[in-house]
Amino acid sequence: MLNKRKIITIISILLTLTLILSACSAPLNSPGNNDTKENGMVNLYTDRHYDTDQMLYDLFTSETGIKVNVVKGDSDELIERLEREGNDTQADVLITADAGRLYKAMEKELLQPVASQILTSNIPPNLRDEDNNWFGLTVRARVLVYSKDKTDESELSTYEDLTDPKWKGKILVRSSSNIYNQSLLASMIAINGEEKTREWAKGIVENLAREPKGNDRDQATAVISGEGDIAIMNTYYIGKMLTSTNPEEIKVAENVSVFFPNQETTGTHINVSGIGLTKSAKNPKNAIKLMEFLVSEKAQKLFAEANFEYPVNPDVQSAEMLKAWGKFKSQDINLSLLGKYNKKATEIANEVGWK
Ligand code: FE
Repeated sequence: MLNKRKIITIISILLTLTLILSACSAPLNSPGNNDTKENGMVNLYTDRHYDTDQMLYDLFTSETGIKVNVVKGDSDELIERLEREGNDTQADVLITADAGRLYKAMEKELLQPVASQILTSNIPPNLRDEDNNWFGLTVRARVLVYSKDKTDESELSTYEDLTDPKWKGKILVRSSSNIYNQSLLASMIAINGEEKTREWAKGIVENLAREPKGNDRDQATAVISGEGDIAIMNTYYIGKMLTSTNPEEIKVAENVSVFFPNQETTGTHINVSGIGLTKSAKNPKNAIKLMEFLVSEKAQKLFAEANFEYPVNPDVQSAEMLKAWGKFKSQDINLSLLGKYNKKATEIANEVGWK
């Protein structure tokens, strides 16, 4: 009796070991396991400029054996390139750091819908296209950054309040040619209408501390150097500055605070970095595997902890630093509207002289 039991135990251990070993040695796209004619690769066009992304692609390759070929560029240039290349494009997926650009690619019929339970269950509905043409990967909030030495938190409230004469010569923001500001304006058109948004943009220009220049980080630096009081910028840059190799950036980030505007009203402006499958993708199965991988808990954690972005996957926690800023209410609009109103937003910026 005892011997029989021992033998059964030994057999079951051996079976388990065999299963584990075979699972480890067979990457998903190994010849014996590949049900498509796709090569073991996926080609992506991306406008994201963060080191985290390459770490994620390397992790994906080590888990699946699928090589990720990356072409980096400006989002508008990449969209133009996709148009020009048509059916011959090598790109399987497009990644941009703005929902508006994904909407633009969709409008130009450069993307195709993806039916994936993993994508729809890991991403809340407002952070993806309702017809599944694009999917958000990470969230960023466009916040107010200030120095506690100069500004009391009680003076801050809304984006709209920044046009008050009390802020004359005190507002810092980069150029309106940048998509982050175009999408902020587009969100305001969606929420407040065109007329109020034009008035707002005009008021911002009147209150600028200096002609718009530099990137988001430079606006925080200008708060500390005393050029202005309030910088409009994306959340993750504070995290990136705190962990920078440049001691000057660390010093700036340590001396500024973050304020989430419009908490009592329409919510803070958010945007996503997102991904879409190209219409002419030659490796669609590999592409969808990559898309699903990027919203997995493992990948979302890396986006959150290494790049200080908010995960789209509600099961994944924000980085500790972001948690310390507390939860915030975000604008309640579908992010496709950022694309829909992009043209109007740039028109308004040009009209009011927001360089
Ligand atoms: Fe950025």
